[in-house]
Amino acid sequence: MRFLTADYIFPVSRAPVKQGFLVLKDDGTIEDLLPDSSQLAVDASIEKHRGVICPGFVNAHCHLELSYLKGKLPEGKGLSGFIRDLIPARTAPQNEILDAAVDADAEMVANGIVVVGDISNTDSSIEVKKNSRIHYHNFIEIFDLQPEKAYEAFDRGKLLYDKFIHAGLNASIVPHAPYTVSAKLLKLINDFAYENNGLLAIHNQETSGENEMFLGSKGDFLNELNEVSGAFENWKGTGFRSLASVFVHLPKCNKMQFVHNTFTEAQDVQWAHLYNLFVWWCLLPKANLFIENTLPDISMLRREVATITVGTDSYASNNSLSVLDELKTIHNHDDSVPLQELLKWATINGAEYFGLHRQYGTLEKGKQPGVNLITKIDSEKITLGPMSSVLPLI
Ligand SMILES: [Zn+2]
Repeated sequence: MRFLTADYIFPVSRAPVKQGFLVLKDDGTIEDLLPDSSQLAVDASIEKHRGVICPGFVNAHCHLELSYLKGKLPEGKGLSGFIRDLIPARTAPQNEILDAAVDADAEMVANGIVVVGDISNTDSSIEVKKNSRIHYHNFIEIFDLQPEKAYEAFDRGKLLYDKFIHAGLNASIVPHAPYTVSAKLLKLINDFAYENNGLLAIHNQETSGENEMFLGSKGDFLNELNEVSGAFENWKGTGFRSLASVFVHLPKCNKMQFVHNTFTEAQDVQWAHLYNLFVWWCLLPKANLFIENTLPDISMLRREVATITVGTDSYASNNSLSVLDELKTIHNHDDSVPLQELLKWATINGAEYFGLHRQYGTLEKGKQPGVNLITKIDSEKITLGPMSSVLPLI
């Protein structure tokens, strides 16, 4: 048995406990959370820490297989510029891809991350994930704009999905983004998700041009995409915003996570919440600053009672794979979000989305959620500080 105390313990499931005591079994299972030491044996060996103790973090969106792109792509090029740079950079020797993924996985463990939702376009991350301490959910991402190639694209995704399942890993098949999938391909994804209760996710409204191309079949983003691939020559918008245009083709009862949401407005959130009750909104602030140099309207999301999760995206668009770094970035731009709420976004909200809340997400008796220490907090305001860092305690 271990006995841990710190300035504050944030179980997340309830209010923080000042100088509380967390009792852990040796395997990391939470035994108890006590308000003081009166119930502890006098000779109990207590581990005292400065800072905040909280559950392990959930990284709701990553691309582990892109870890070899660390430091290789330039910042601030906008989404179309990012895509233009990414396509030729997406080749490397297999051992380089694998070594970078191993390092990135170890870095996430060291950063207190216990669950990762990971986009997979290839099987290159399977071995790393099989041997990792992290629980991975694998989003098998597919895209193709040409309706006549929909079956081909889906079958390729299904083959990859089968590889992950046969390796004993969790997986679901998801569309890449509203502007890279045909309605026919969405129908195949929809049917498969419906039959398998698949977890859905999609990159959403990452640039303002995405809505422009759906609403009016025009705009710089559309032109730039067409320059990159030539696949957008016959593009016809729907006359609706991108989120509604794509969501209407997907099931109403499967869990859905919208990722990025950089240009999402209240009307999008309201539409999504009316269409489907099981919607999560994933923030990737450092990637947003890297690609578009802007952030989603977080106060709007809070006003609309959106359930928020946090992701790191990949090393193609970030310089760290740390959920705490993402929280610090949010705090730097909007210090009105209480630490308790930030931690909810980084723990239980993601755990519930992945259906892993019985084990992860809160410091509650019987769970094995991972235990993190956040150091160098502002102890007066109980907020994150510029030097805050995370240390996993188990
Ligand atoms: Zn992504």
